[in-house]
Amino acid sequence: MTKRSIRSADVAGKTVFVRVDFNVPIADGVITDDTRIRAALPTISWLIERNARVVLASHLGRPGGKANDELRMAPVAARLAELLERPVTAMASITGSDVTDAVDAMNDGDVILLENLRFDPGEEANDPDFARELADLADIYVNDAFGTSHRAHASTEGIANHIPAYLGFLMQREVEALSRLLEAPEHPFIAIIGGAKVSDKIGILDHLIERVDTLLIGGGMANTFLHAQGHEVGTSLMEEDQVDTARRILEHATERGVEVMLPLDVVVAEDVDAGRGTTVSISEVPAGSAIFDIGSETRRAFFRAILEAKTVFWNGPLGVAEKPTFAVGTRRVAEAVAMADGYTVIGGGDSIAALEQIGLADQIDHVSTGGGASLEFVEGRTLPGIAMVPDEADAS
Ligand code: ADP
Ligand code: MG
Repeated sequence: MTKRSIRSADVAGKTVFVRVDFNVPIADGVITDDTRIRAALPTISWLIERNARVVLASHLGRPGGKANDELRMAPVAARLAELLERPVTAMASITGSDVTDAVDAMNDGDVILLENLRFDPGEEANDPDFARELADLADIYVNDAFGTSHRAHASTEGIANHIPAYLGFLMQREVEALSRLLEAPEHPFIAIIGGAKVSDKIGILDHLIERVDTLLIGGGMANTFLHAQGHEVGTSLMEEDQVDTARRILEHATERGVEVMLPLDVVVAEDVDAGRGTTVSISEVPAGSAIFDIGSETRRAFFRAILEAKTVFWNGPLGVAEKPTFAVGTRRVAEAVAMADGYTVIGGGDSIAALEQIGLADQIDHVSTGGGASLEFVEGRTLPGIAMVPDEADAS
């Protein structure tokens, strides 16, 4: 099943509404990382070359349904114009006569960027009237915002009720790359799941237990699993209300014959700002200390397991990777994933930030642009922003 691609659309002279993910980090009006803008360039350039009139729209931050001067799209439009080497008109509104007048005045190949979609409460509410207003701006809809495709919002879902919908190139790449994990992955298939909380990742853990051969667990969430096995975890991040869930996941893994590798040793400290940590066995965590990283024996065991894999999926740092002191486990795992011969996929905002910092992103087969969206996709869930696009075969 292949979703209808923009490649099959006749776009010359048409107005094309493209939902992009330009939710970039901005500090004091300066974009600190333009990766997401660059990621949308293939679709935008393709449309310009084919003489489409390109109307772009994105959300930025969490304005909560009202205008916020710090979250205006103007700096994004300026950066996009530099990257495209052509003018990009930044609109100060999303709908209304200013926008319709500007769209009516567009020439083939022109690009405009609407104001932050989440300034209007209709966006996140998937308000049908707001979706209709967006659709009325264009002839064709393209979804290229993988990072928000797990949300049914007006610009990701509602709009596709009104005009023909297609996937952009970024979306297509994500769908193809992540589908490889769901459809006949090569074995051994190893998943590495870290990050803060079990409660954030229950869905993905339950799903992966059904498919992988080995599950490596690290990060804050490993503490809950260790506690479920009877270990004392001191003052570590630990979710008391998830201990039963952790136990159930471990039992399920045993039934399925899935090997679960938990930390054997850990790096502990009295607080996260301690400049150094101490490595101890998991049976020797001091009462007044917290676990902030996996230890050296665990790093070696994880490293070896990852190198043997034919398919690797990684989500979530193995420790508090924001702190160099506790980033060693995450770094070692990143190196193993980069070295692995198998097919390697990484998803998750904090995992990717760590990977970028280490500088190994280009040695991974697929670094997903979506955090929550990539997890939901790998869980096999239907993402509204993809489901609304018809299959290629249905295209008329
Ligand atoms: P991702 O964004 O890649 O999905 P998460 O958001 O689930 O990852 O997890 C990242 C967070 O987990 C980071 O803020 C990191 O500091 C935290 N974390 C990892 N290990 C620990 C730990 N041992 N104790 C406390 N927090 C941790
Ligand atoms: Mg995160």
